[in-house]
Amino acid sequence: MIMVPDYIIAFKDKQTESEFDQVKPRLQAFILAAGAFMYFTYGVTLVVTDLMRDAEKSTHVHGYGVDFRTYNLTEKQGDALVDFLKWQFPYYLKPPHLKYSVRDERKVGTSEGRTGAHIHGQVNWREE
Ligand SMILES: [Zn+2]
Repeated sequence: MIMVPDYIIAFKDKQTESEFDQVKPRLQAFILAAGAFMYFTYGVTLVVTDLMRDAEKSTHVHGYGVDFRTYNLTEKQGDALVDFLKWQFPYYLKPPHLKYSVRDERKVGTSEGRTGAHIHGQVNWREE
């Protein structure tokens, strides 16, 4: 059981909170870094809205994906979070093939159509 300080990361609900222990350790580190960045830069608590989403073919099902709430962030804060994550968690094509990716889905409609505005992050899928 990893202790997640509630000022660094908040969860949408108890279910999502309970899923944190099931996702990949690499994704847990990604989430904690994102939360720490937002808290220590802006005093904002980042909210995780989705971890193990119940949908086929989703990185979420496998514990490799996370969604962060964005309606409570200013545009500048959202931009900074995306920039920070892309900078600190790059997508390496060469060994050791650490592939992180960040999708800015704050503009509603850019997602699969079933989710609201959010920022999506994930770590290599099916490669461990
Ligand atoms: Zn997502």
